[in-house]
Amino acid sequence: MTANLGPSTGWSPPPDDQRRLQALRRYRILDSLPEQAFEDVVQLATTICGTPQAVVTFIDEDRQWFKASRGIKGEETERGIAFCDIAIRRPDEVTIVRDASQHPVFRNYPQVTGEDHLRFYAGAPMVTPDGFALGSVCVVDVVPRDLSLEQVESLRALARMAVALLELRQRELEAQRLLAERELATRELQDYQRSLEARNTALAEEARRDSLTGLLNRGGLEQATMGGFWAGGGQFTVAVLDIDHFKRINDNHGHATGDDVLRLVGEQILQAVRGGDVAVRYGGEEFLVLMPATPPDGAITVIERIRQTVASHPDLPVPVTLSAGIASGQAGRDATESVFERADQALYQAKRRGRDRIEVADD
Ligand code: GH3
Ligand code: MG
Ligand code: MG
Repeated sequence: MTANLGPSTGWSPPPDDQRRLQALRRYRILDSLPEQAFEDVVQLATTICGTPQAVVTFIDEDRQWFKASRGIKGEETERGIAFCDIAIRRPDEVTIVRDASQHPVFRNYPQVTGEDHLRFYAGAPMVTPDGFALGSVCVVDVVPRDLSLEQVESLRALARMAVALLELRQRELEAQRLLAERELATRELQDYQRSLEARNTALAEEARRDSLTGLLNRGGLEQATMGGFWAGGGQFTVAVLDIDHFKRINDNHGHATGDDVLRLVGEQILQAVRGGDVAVRYGGEEFLVLMPATPPDGAITVIERIRQTVASHPDLPVPVTLSAGIASGQAGRDATESVFERADQALYQAKRRGRDRIEVADD
């Protein structure tokens, strides 16, 4: 074995070491946890070569790191004094040092001069399919020795097996990475879908409502009364409410004040109606309240309360009065449209009779 490097001569990396290090990083093996397959490699190496020590070692930028070892303490050493750093410089050969104490360079290495008493070293480089020697499978002894041709070939075979393990391991890691990536993408897609659905629901809800008062609009009314709305049976009541002389409010105080009035009237209606009732801004300053399972008396109470709270509301910028028409029908017998028509007639009656009042349609 010829080695022109060592602590006495000054260490320098082999040519193209950067690309070799890049290849090593791709395997993500450095500082990984122990793995049985690599433990098995060193176990076989000691058995085959009859040495007390064996290591699967990878040569990092300035250290050698042990993936698996037998009979050797620690998990890394400085690269500049690593026998394996010499071994990887001849990727096609098994580097054998019969007696390091006799070697012109190695005899000065601390593991040779010191208590480790290293004498024998044989290292088979682990060479990747694209030609990079990442480290070696090596056997070590404290006494000089020789290896048979079969032992050398077996050590070489173990180095090839270690590379095959590395390749498998990398594919496994890559598969896991892809799976995690896909799961993340799926999760992100699901989140996005959920946010779209929520947005859709919010938009649909928004579309059903009048933006000024928050009451249902005509579209919302249709949706709310679709299919079986009066199914509770018995009497139901429809009330139509209209702000009196609203045009004057607009004309005398401005459109913005008119809007404030509309908003406040809407609020009072919402507060007065009950859970099953449906309150709608039906037109400009006209409102509709549908009251299932409610006879006229009950409805009058509700609408009268609205009329009175509006008439005496302290927050109103101008005095406001309401007129309302009320009509009832029998669920399953009377069509909503005809009851609404009668309520509307009652409203005209209220207007004719002086406004600020409720009229109930005859049956
Ligand atoms: P009546 O007592 O007979 O109901 O008289 P009125 O003035 O209330 O009724 P009219 O139908 O003559 O006028 C309704 C007014 O409501 C006309 C319209 O410009 C106004 N209006 C409709 N929608 C809005 C709105 O969103 N904001 C405001 N500020 N005014 C509106
Ligand atoms: Mg009006
Ligand atoms: Mg009107």
